[in-house]
Amino acid sequence: MPDAHLHIAGRWRHAADAGTRDVVNPATGSVFTRVDEATPADATAAIASARATFDDGAWPGTPVTERAALLRRIADLLVLNKAEMARIETLDTGKTVAESEIDMDDVESVLRYYAALIETESDRVVDVGVPGVISRVVREPIGVCVMIAPWNYPLLQISWKIAPALAAGCTMVAKPSEVTPLSTIAFVELCSRAGVPPGVLNLVQGAGSTLGDALTDTDDVDFISFTGGLATGRIISEVAARHVTKVAVELGGKNPHIVFPDADWESSVDQVLTGVFLHSGQVCSSGTRLIVHASIADDFVDALVAGAEQIVMGDGLDPASKTGPLVSAAQLAKMEEFVESAKAEGAVLRTGGGRPDRDGLDPAGYYFAPTIFDHCDATMRIVRDETFGPILTVERFDTEEQALALGNDTDYGLAAGVRTSDAALGERMVRGLRHGTVWLNDFGYYTPAAEWGGFGKSGNGRELGPTGLAEYQETKHIWHNTAPAPSRWFTSTEDGVQ
Ligand code: NAD
Repeated sequence: MPDAHLHIAGRWRHAADAGTRDVVNPATGSVFTRVDEATPADATAAIASARATFDDGAWPGTPVTERAALLRRIADLLVLNKAEMARIETLDTGKTVAESEIDMDDVESVLRYYAALIETESDRVVDVGVPGVISRVVREPIGVCVMIAPWNYPLLQISWKIAPALAAGCTMVAKPSEVTPLSTIAFVELCSRAGVPPGVLNLVQGAGSTLGDALTDTDDVDFISFTGGLATGRIISEVAARHVTKVAVELGGKNPHIVFPDADWESSVDQVLTGVFLHSGQVCSSGTRLIVHASIADDFVDALVAGAEQIVMGDGLDPASKTGPLVSAAQLAKMEEFVESAKAEGAVLRTGGGRPDRDGLDPAGYYFAPTIFDHCDATMRIVRDETFGPILTVERFDTEEQALALGNDTDYGLAAGVRTSDAALGERMVRGLRHGTVWLNDFGYYTPAAEWGGFGKSGNGRELGPTGLAEYQETKHIWHNTAPAPSRWFTSTEDGVQ
């Protein structure tokens, strides 16, 4: 890790006012390091650096093969440093090292995916039917990008932005969450070592509430890519609209997991549990709403309760831990508040609901037990709002139509799961569900080659896949007449005008 934590115009710097922020280990609740906290002036300087570097033209004009090779060198360096990067991610987020290692593998994959994709891109030739005219549509980098990321998958989420932006030839300012800044700092250092030119990838740290305006309320930015909560997404969209800046917001989810009575029992119990309790539920696509057929609901929920109570919770650095603490005291307080509101609304608490009763957990760590509320309905706040924590709600259905209606009864539309052994029923359900990703007899998986994003209030952009690259590009139509001749529109000899 570098000594200073802002990266502007190729140099590591401290904040203009020398301000810092504490970084807390969620497993212990204690401060273990500090990072520089940027001022708005630092953020403006970072944008100016990205702007000047883009306008200079050298980086956007770099041959595609060189940009692809650079992405692969970053991936190679990440692999060499994987153990340390995973340890940093765990210290910062609380997730288990096994999860952090998977995150690092996924970051490597996205870098290699966009390296390969950019090399296969070609111009689109358009036959305009005019002799001598060569017409083609080319893609060019969109320009200066601002990338704002959340704390749940700190490096993974920002890599879904940095990798396609580098591939496309953009320059950028990245701002990780102030809650989890460390892995992005370490990653930007790897990028510099790999040869990312000065000014291409700038980095600022700090709270969105202080840096947000400097990063978004400006005409110097061409694209804002934001991943985070709905409320923040709304603010950023409104600010961007004032400047007619393109913006993509990737927001929250309230994701249904629908289980029909003919579903494979063992994998269904297993995946409903991992779908909601992995990373203590701090996953945008977490399957927090179980929608289960009434005929199997009681037995199914009993099996889930038994499974939830066996989940080994602990410090993410302990290899025995299967899930870690919540990321912050604020997140813990939010879960406690959700539990009280669910009880008040009449949901039946089957397990969890507070701090886990387990030996060996640091009392100052932000642990919250896997929690299941049965007998919920779609009017309850616990079913409508994103909790972003380890809370599963259970609703029952009798017919396919009811299951589909419940699955779509949400303001969000990020992800959904369906479980049935009837292929035709499954296909009807996956086409009927209004969500950006739908899993049939699986849950939680993704690939860098397939688009990720939401319907409804889960957002308006797409990351990953070819669309995730296109977000960082403009298209330009080039009309090249190789045999120019006058059109004589205004100089027709028939009209006697010369
Ligand atoms: P958040 O909205 O509080 O913060 C996200 C980022 O925005 C942070 O970096 C924060 O500093 C910044 N920010 C805050 N106010 C800002 C402002 N006014 N201007 C500019 N930036 C500002 O979200 P969070 O709590 O960090 O993350 C959790 C949310 O992220 C959940 O809703 C989750 O579902 C969502 N998420 C979505 C996806 C997806 O792919 N759709 C992936 C991961 C997380």
